[in-house]
Amino acid sequence: MIGGLNDKISREFAGVQHVFGAGNPHAAVMLVGEAPGREEVEQGKPFVGKAGKNLDEFLQSIDLAREELYVTNAVKFRPVRVSQKGTVANRTPSAREVAAYRPYLLEEIRLIAPKVVVTLGNTPLRSVLGDPKLTIGEVHGKTIALKRATLFALYHPASIIYNRALAEVYREDLAALKAYLKSV
Ligand code: URA
Repeated sequence: MIGGLNDKISREFAGVQHVFGAGNPHAAVMLVGEAPGREEVEQGKPFVGKAGKNLDEFLQSIDLAREELYVTNAVKFRPVRVSQKGTVANRTPSAREVAAYRPYLLEEIRLIAPKVVVTLGNTPLRSVLGDPKLTIGEVHGKTIALKRATLFALYHPASIIYNRALAEVYREDLAALKAYLKSV
C-alpha cells in the first residue's frame, strides 16, 4: 500500500525531494509535524538539526525517549517561498498539498498503529481529521478519538517562538500530554 502511494506521490511531485517518517515502527506514540525544513531535506530525516534539538527538549519534558517514538510529517517535502530578502524560506503547505499527502499519512498511522497520535499545529491536525477548517486554538491540549488511536493536539513548537503569550499555554498542554501518556 505504501509502495502504491509512493508511486502516486512520485508522479504528482516528480523531482521533489521527499522526507519520509522515521523511528520505532512499534511506537505507542506517533508525532506528526507539518513538513520538513532545509536540514531535514539535507539529511533525509524528519526533525533533525534545530527542530530535532527542540524535539529532544520537548520529549525530555514529557519523559519520552526518541527511540520510543515514530516521527513523521503531514507533508513529505519542503514547501518553500522566496522571502522578502530574496532567500529561500519555508512556507505553510497549501490545502492541496496537504490533501495530496493525506492518504500516505493515514496509511502510516494504520501501519504503525500507535496508541496516541500527537499533532503539532494546524496542518497535521487538519490532515489527520480531514477537517480543513478546524484550528489548533479550538482543540489544543485535548484528546480526540480516532478509529484506532487517540489524537492529542499541540501547538507547533515553532509557533511558540514567535508568540510568547502561547508559551504558558503550551507548557500546560505539555503537562496534560504527560499526564495522559502516563494513563494509557
Ligand atoms: N521539522 C520537521 O520535520 N517538521 C516540522 O514540522 C518542523 C521541523
